[in-house]
Amino acid sequence: MQYVTLNNGVQMPILGFGVYQIPPEQTEQAVTEALAAGYRLLDTAAAYGNEEAVGRAIKKSGIPREELFVTTKLWVQDAPAEDNTRRAFETSLTGLGLDHLDLYLMHQPFGDVYGQWRAMEALNGEGLAKAIGVANFYPDRLIDLVLNNEVTPAVNQIETHPFFQRAGYQDLMRERGVQTQSWGGFAEGKNDLFGNPLLAGIGREYDKSVAQAVLRWLTQRGVVAIPKSVRAERMAENIDIFDFELTDEQMAAIATLDTGSTLFFDHHDPEMVDWLAKRRLDA
Ligand code: NAP
Repeated sequence: MQYVTLNNGVQMPILGFGVYQIPPEQTEQAVTEALAAGYRLLDTAAAYGNEEAVGRAIKKSGIPREELFVTTKLWVQDAPAEDNTRRAFETSLTGLGLDHLDLYLMHQPFGDVYGQWRAMEALNGEGLAKAIGVANFYPDRLIDLVLNNEVTPAVNQIETHPFFQRAGYQDLMRERGVQTQSWGGFAEGKNDLFGNPLLAGIGREYDKSVAQAVLRWLTQRGVVAIPKSVRAERMAENIDIFDFELTDEQMAAIATLDTGSTLFFDHHDPEMVDWLAKRRLDA
């Protein structure tokens, strides 16, 4: 496994396993298989409803805690968010059966963002979250957050895949010390990603699949990837990307697939903001 070093010195695996949309009753099995396949970074969220199942798989694995890198995410909190955030954190930690997190992310740039961040800074200061970061922050919100707080987010987890590459934003984040992490690295298969002829052709040159070519491309750009799968053979395929290297020409060819816009939703879309910002997990 390769690692990236976050802005506070914490080491993070460059490839992990995401559990979004895995139903809670399937998650323990999926995470058990992912750990057996060699994944050590696990990415869940309070909003996914499967933290407890992730925790059971971790416990059952017997893998030493220090070998694991566990991320979960804080859902949108009302103001004043300090107490709500600590409560939400404690619920997540208890669900996972852990005494600390490796990375705690603010899931959306909505609600009492600054109150949530200050509470996350406190959790970080107490060593309960070794690193803190954000997700789904576009540059405008990220820079304001960086400028107006003590701790710069270690990570921004954003939609990043061959059809929405965000290379310019990655450069900007690098200048600010923020690590890019891709969600939806396969675009969840949208736009016929797994049938894309360019990606398939590049993969074939190394006897690799489209999925492997995409994950190699992401990690070779220095982007942390967290592919999701419920199938053990795909978990094994998706982690087997460290024995080949794409050429500059292949990286440049993949760059031509960028459409420059989201395949999911825009966090500036008023209807989407209204829906996400009002949603509460316990509602
Ligand atoms: P994804 O990883 O882009 O795609 C997952 C899809 O690809 C599933 O349908 C999976 O099917 C399929 N797949 C996986 N490996 C494959 C392979 N080798 N060949 C063919 N198909 C394959 O989608 P994602 O789950 O949305 O994103 C990854 C992770 O990012 C999530 O699990 C979550 O942890 C995180 N995420 C975060 C946010 C956020 O707001 N912060 C949003 C979305 C996701 P099978 O399962 O049937 O194999």
